[in-house]
Amino acid sequence: SKVPPIILNNGVEMPQLGFGVWQVPDDEAERAVTTALEAGYRSIDTAAIYGNEEGTGKAIAGAGVPREDIFVTTKLWNGDQGYDSTLRAFDVSLEKLGLEYIDLYLIHWPLPARGTYVDTYKAFEKLHADGRIRAIGVSNFLPEHLQRLIAETSVIPAVNQIELHPHLQQHASREYHAEQGIATEAWSPLGQGKGLLEVPAIVAIAQKHGRTPAQIVLRWHLQLGNVVIPKSVTPSRIKENIEVFDFSLDDEDLAAISALNEDRRIGPDPATFDVA
Ligand code: NAD
Repeated sequence: SKVPPIILNNGVEMPQLGFGVWQVPDDEAERAVTTALEAGYRSIDTAAIYGNEEGTGKAIAGAGVPREDIFVTTKLWNGDQGYDSTLRAFDVSLEKLGLEYIDLYLIHWPLPARGTYVDTYKAFEKLHADGRIRAIGVSNFLPEHLQRLIAETSVIPAVNQIELHPHLQQHASREYHAEQGIATEAWSPLGQGKGLLEVPAIVAIAQKHGRTPAQIVLRWHLQLGNVVIPKSVTPSRIKENIEVFDFSLDDEDLAAISALNEDRRIGPDPATFDVA
């Protein structure tokens, strides 16, 4: 495969680069995921709340790629937290995706004020023990949420998927994950493509390597060890975003990008975010 894997803490292999489908309507998701699978992506990141598990599942079914060669992630939405409701929501996601198992299931947000993520995760542990999920993890968890989860449950999360890009480098989380053997997965790895891809330091590195700014930012993540899931619905960009395994950034490039940290979020603060 084009994309090398990382080995999760339970031995499962996960492609280090995948395809994200947030904000892709269900009818477009089939086309976008099909394009991504044709381009060589073998990891797809969806979520119940994205409303495109059906389109994603159709693309997977129609791709002519063996199921075991595709790594599928979906996420449990906030309103379904709790033990029994998680078991039910998992069945709905599986049904929509048209799959027999999920590779990675994530708790989408911690919702710390509700205090339900431990019970939710215990349902994940049951689904994992039953062989219906290959790896279980979380998203948007701060180190304090992970600490509580690890203290009160038995399976250390394989992955924490968090907002992470050059303007929000998440040093404390990355360090804590490394200590605990949790893989760091970057959402909005391109900073949603807004100002980040026009930052002069990134444009200069792109010119130096004869690459695009998006490829430079993705390469920075990969060399740091992050899993990335860039999103695009434009076929040329879908292809461009996976063509990042045939060049390397040097130490000077990495340092110049690391100097861009502003600890600035695009998305919500996990400590307070709570919508059903
Ligand atoms: P992203 O950083 O991947 O940016 C996507 C945008 O960047 C595109 O819409 C496009 O405008 C632009 N872009 C993409 N490729 C480009 C290229 N080659 N050149 C120029 N512009 C380009 O942002 P995202 O979609 O927010 O994040 C990626 C994925 O992360 C999502 O699709 C989703 O799967 C996941 N995600 C998860 C959470 C969570 O709470 N767990 C939140 C947000 C996103």
